[in-house]
Amino acid sequence: MRTKRIDNTLQEYQSLEEACVGLAKLLGLDAPVPQQVAIAALYNPGYARNLLKSRCPIKLARLLKNPPSLPESLNTTEIGSKELLKEASLAALRWARIRFTQADQETYNRRLRACQECENCVDAPAKALYTIAALGLEDSAKKVCKLCGCFVARKALAASESCPALDPFNSNLTRWGEPRT
Ligand code: SF4
Repeated sequence: MRTKRIDNTLQEYQSLEEACVGLAKLLGLDAPVPQQVAIAALYNPGYARNLLKSRCPIKLARLLKNPPSLPESLNTTEIGSKELLKEASLAALRWARIRFTQADQETYNRRLRACQECENCVDAPAKALYTIAALGLEDSAKKVCKLCGCFVARKALAASESCPALDPFNSNLTRWGEPRT
């Protein structure tokens, strides 16, 4: 399977607003993340890692709704805009490195088509949907795989992911048409 690194395709963010949009894009959200979320992700690598690795809608919604507070020494009101800008400009590459390697477009489309035709592809749980809807997640990402609980759109995009179900006509392949692992 061909893959591409997204590291080389990202521009530096020039402002906190751009970082909010950029982080939302990496998370598959249509609307920019709240500034509080972007700031927490800039200064807390563990939080950024959890956000960017999350495939589960409930977990992602929970993380977005509850960004960790910053250490007192980094109180938002005390962070100068210059410092924020410096952090934001470094974030694109850092976040991209945390994130997974993406599948190429052809692989992504094939996987997503298989998911759309699969009986295991269901609407996200109502509890998560309620929160996700408010965050502007694109429609295609509102479906989850009921076998693993992941957003199918995010799962299909990650090169290292695999479909947990076997092709009903060929037990050597998964429903994505890829060799079983
Ligand atoms: S990942 Fe596999 S099992 Fe899950 S919805 Fe997609 S095709 Fe179906």
